[in-house]
Amino acid sequence: MRVGVLALQGAFREHIVMLEALEVAAVAVRLPNQLDDLDGLIIPGGESTAIGKLMESYEFFEPIAGRHAEGMAVWGTCAGAILVAKRVLDGVTGQRSLGLMDIAVRRNAFGRQVDSFEVDLDFAHLHGEDYRGVFIRAPWIEEVGAGAEVLARHEGAIVAAREGNMLATVFHPELTGDPRIHRYFIEDVIPT
Ligand code: GLN
Repeated sequence: MRVGVLALQGAFREHIVMLEALEVAAVAVRLPNQLDDLDGLIIPGGESTAIGKLMESYEFFEPIAGRHAEGMAVWGTCAGAILVAKRVLDGVTGQRSLGLMDIAVRRNAFGRQVDSFEVDLDFAHLHGEDYRGVFIRAPWIEEVGAGAEVLARHEGAIVAAREGNMLATVFHPELTGDPRIHRYFIEDVIPT
């Protein structure tokens, strides 16, 4: 199994460290041709407008959608969750997303109350204790389509969802040292 992490901007190194700790071949994806042999792609947190602009410059939009149509799983964390969403709320004018996952994501939604925080989450399908969510200027998922499953909420707001071979988390699972969501992506979300 090979999992790529889009390495244009943001917290991609931390995802690679997590994948390597799980003994998965991890690829820092800097050019579209590196998508060709991937089973899954993680789009990291960072700044969705900056990542989106770099994705346009490096012509990533069509190749990611194309590889996803062929079965490549996709996981967006934080800014990445914005980039996989079909609908972006409070985006900047003309902000582009991949439009893969049937969710509406509101940028900086928690930021109106508090910029960054940590909280224990009851995350579906994870064994053991709660998962510590690290939220950094996080969006929330405002709506999910009929085909999507809500995996976790914080004070009513949806903070993780899955639709088929797509996963969206609005917090940063690569920053906690707890590999359970990466393992969930590898074992459950990536089709075997
Ligand atoms: N607020 C950022 C955005 O809109 C996301 C923050 C993050 O990824 N930690 O892109």
